[in-house]
Amino acid sequence: MRTPVDRAILVGAPERGVDPRVGDEHLEELGRLTDTAGGRVVGTLVQRLERPHPRFYIGEGKAEDLRALVRTAEADLVIFDEELSPAQGKNLEDLLEVRVMDRSELILDIFATRARSREAKMQVELAQLEYLLPRLRRMWSHLSRIRGGIGLRGPGETQLETDRRLIGTRIADLKGKLREVAKARDIQRQSRQGQFRAALVGYTNAGKSSLLRALSGSELFVEDRLFATLDSATRSVELGGGHHALLTDTVGFIRKLPHHLVASFRSTLEEAREADVLLHVIDASHPGREEHRQVVAEVVEELGLRGHETILVFNKVDRLTEPERRALEARVRTLEAHAAVFVSALDPDTLVPLRETLKARIRARLSHVMVRFPSVDGETLAALYREGEVMERVDEGATVAVRARIPAELRGRLEARRGIQIQEVA
Ligand code: GDP
Ligand code: MG
Repeated sequence: MRTPVDRAILVGAPERGVDPRVGDEHLEELGRLTDTAGGRVVGTLVQRLERPHPRFYIGEGKAEDLRALVRTAEADLVIFDEELSPAQGKNLEDLLEVRVMDRSELILDIFATRARSREAKMQVELAQLEYLLPRLRRMWSHLSRIRGGIGLRGPGETQLETDRRLIGTRIADLKGKLREVAKARDIQRQSRQGQFRAALVGYTNAGKSSLLRALSGSELFVEDRLFATLDSATRSVELGGGHHALLTDTVGFIRKLPHHLVASFRSTLEEAREADVLLHVIDASHPGREEHRQVVAEVVEELGLRGHETILVFNKVDRLTEPERRALEARVRTLEAHAAVFVSALDPDTLVPLRETLKARIRARLSHVMVRFPSVDGETLAALYREGEVMERVDEGATVAVRARIPAELRGRLEARRGIQIQEVA
């Protein structure tokens, strides 16, 4: 959406089997997306369908109603919750004489205005161009209608061909640049090797950034809007007892996230792939929380992260009544194997079990060893205190014996050094 004054009509056309409440929720979410994009909802239209109609997606009679509604509400934009084919989009624009978008296009638009880093901007542009390519003809007819001017009327096939070629070149160019950025990120990532890493994943607005802020004590952008954050952020989180984890906040997921976007954000989500554990954040107070959980689980699977250990983090429990909370806990106990914690990002006390859970994961990865080394080797002693958890230290004259839990990476380094003896402790 180019201006903050777009007056939008939302159209929902759920299949007949869909629960009406779920249909309402989807339309409500589309309204929030419209708001995030800077538009104003001035009307809605719903038709329950057996199956989509090829011409206008909705039935012809309903399309005529929509045309009348556009006139009376003085709308300049129509947004469909369902995905339109390029032909349906064009037919609808011809009939309604205003711009028509579907959910994917709206999400792409929001991402475009919210991307901050150079990488996110390139990722969004790539997704937009790939979305645009099969729809070029429609874009052209749209331009010629609003401008109506000479030279824009009915651009010839040559113009279309030229544009296709230009866009193709730009796509290749962006892909190349993104590969370079990904390489730089790989190097940065390698420097963090050996540290325990967790990634926050979850539906948009579930409270991922709020949690990272609460856990790390650092400032992060939080907003009651869909897609407040696009760029991933990594912070160090102190867990107590000398342990810490690197926690990464990633872009939120949403129902029907355009697959071009998922594809182009793959490298950002690479952070999640490398994580030791995924924290799947769920807004426990949202009526659609079960659907949200499934959407996130599907995207996680699509990204090839299914094998990762996942902890379900039910957030915003401050908004639940005591009986609601008990019902939720009972339900979660019946869920499959995932560990679950119940938290409120607004209340630091509730975060203790989450920290403990993370700490337990870290400790499970440490090996319990007895290390003997010359007492003059201050460097080894310092490393043990810095990177491990020292439990006992005995001075044996010229050598020191230290019993500690240490990460595999430190163990490897010590084993490579001369004069150091390492024994497993049962
Ligand atoms: P994200 O999109 O997952 O990063 O979500 P944000 O962290 O930006 O939070 C979305 C909205 O939910 C913001 O208005 C937060 O203030 C609010 N929020 C986050 N956590 C909680 C919580 O535990 N309780 C309540 N009541 N609101 C929360
Ligand atoms: Mg966020």
